Amino acid sequence: MVEVLFDVVILGFGPAALSLAIALHELPRPLNVLILERKPCFSWRGGASPLNGSRMRTSLLQDLVTQRNPLSDFTFINYLWATGSLVDYTNLSLVNPPKSVFCHYLQWCASKIEALGWIRYGHEVSGLEPLSVANGEINTWRINAKDIKGGTLRSVEARRVIIAVGSQAKLSPPLSSFRSHRRLFHSARFHEALPDIQSNEARSLNIAVLGGDDEAVEIFEHLCSVASDSKVVLYLDDTALRQTDTNPFLSSAVQTPNRLPYELRRCLGAQGDFRAVAPTVHSSVLSRLYLLQYSQLVKQGNRTEHNSRICTSKEITHARTSEGTSRILLDVTDISTGVAEKSVPFDYIIAASGYERTEHQRLMARLQSVLDSLDGSVTVDSSYRVNFKRGKVAAQSGVWVVDGFEIESGDAFSFLALRTETVLQSLFENDKTGTQDGKHTEAGTLVERATL
Ligand SMILES: Cc1cc2nc3c(=O)[nH]c(=O)nc-3n(C[C@H](O)[C@H](O)[C@H](O)COP(=O)(O)OP(=O)(O)OC[C@H]3O[C@@H](n4cnc5c(N)ncnc54)[C@H](O)[C@@H]3O)c2cc1C
Repeated sequence: MVEVLFDVVILGFGPAALSLAIALHELPRPLNVLILERKPCFSWRGGASPLNGSRMRTSLLQDLVTQRNPLSDFTFINYLWATGSLVDYTNLSLVNPPKSVFCHYLQWCASKIEALGWIRYGHEVSGLEPLSVANGEINTWRINAKDIKGGTLRSVEARRVIIAVGSQAKLSPPLSSFRSHRRLFHSARFHEALPDIQSNEARSLNIAVLGGDDEAVEIFEHLCSVASDSKVVLYLDDTALRQTDTNPFLSSAVQTPNRLPYELRRCLGAQGDFRAVAPTVHSSVLSRLYLLQYSQLVKQGNRTEHNSRICTSKEITHARTSEGTSRILLDVTDISTGVAEKSVPFDYIIAASGYERTEHQRLMARLQSVLDSLDGSVTVDSSYRVNFKRGKVAAQSGVWVVDGFEIESGDAFSFLALRTETVLQSLFENDKTGTQDGKHTEAGTLVERATL
């Protein structure tokens, strides 16, 4: 059953979609907007792990709106004021808010958008397809979704579709067959692992954390404090933990108008290979961790006896269950010496092996024939608008993919509000003239093409 024609349908309701929804709500003209989210309520995955006093890596000014509209009701500062905590927060002098507070801010904003009646939770989108064609151009899209509770399939129609479905947990090949093993958790599910670890009757557990980014290191640090009788080891393939480049000149370069989408600008130093950027950790986390390791050295001497160990240059080549138990053994090769070794049986493994962003491709599978690329891949222009073949899609219609770049793009909140402004400008830029302007029609020349 098809309902009204929506001006904009947003797929997914994470922070990216929330920022866009606020921007659409703040436009002077009323719009018919729908947001489809598969979860039963709003939740931010960055806040799912209850890490001790963990703070945002980004500033309170890098919220959902401030850099786009500092006068908005949805700023972090206004949230503090509206919830009666502005004075107390000010006394803390914290530029980087505690994650628990930022999570509450996001929930607070989400509840205001919910009140507009724009959101349908529990709806998983399966794909979109072109619908009506006027003068040979697609001007409406059909979005197919499943009501998860009732199992009913539903369709909605829209002029413009924004895909904001985020990323999906990725496991590296030696561990991919352990996806549903009860001892192995991707870092995205650490909040599920933690109660299990803490309620385990064995006092001294062997736990491995795999990875070398902020997420891996924060989880490692947290386990070292809450499971202090256990042996916790961090394996990473790099020769050392590396520091995130937070120099303000780079941040300025990312925020300055450019022909590239925001995600790619931070990687410009990577000599064109955007995917080759090594995982990094914020300096404050590195300092804390180094101090922890040093205190251990002073107390315990022999490094191999330490309760928490950081093992660099290690590649996990194989994993199997330890005979007669559900514990997991790892084959580990030292990259610097080539020597292979077998690990102790691990009671738990937390794999911070990153995320992949391929969901938008699945959702757009039925649009392949109209995509403007030789190999059927999805490309966007600098306003995140999908490049379709010339003359195939009407100017007032289109699809935008806001979080599909297969790269570690740093902290999304550092450019979230700016990216929202870019998308917003592009969504309605052709409404006034009724024709595509030079920017889009000349996509190959004026606008950089970016493969997701
Ligand atoms: C532990 C952790 C800490 C972090 N800390 C920071 C930080 O301090 N600062 C910072 O800037 N960034 C941080 N990040 C990164 C930040 O969380 C993410 O970049 C941000 O969540 C991205 O938002 P998003 O809306 O693009 O994607 P997501 O948060 O992944 O949201 C996507 C939404 O789409 C929904 N969805 C997916 N597929 C479908 C479908 N087919 N149908 C319907 N709905 C669908 C999902 O359920 C989800 O709700 C952190 C991330 C993690 C994991």
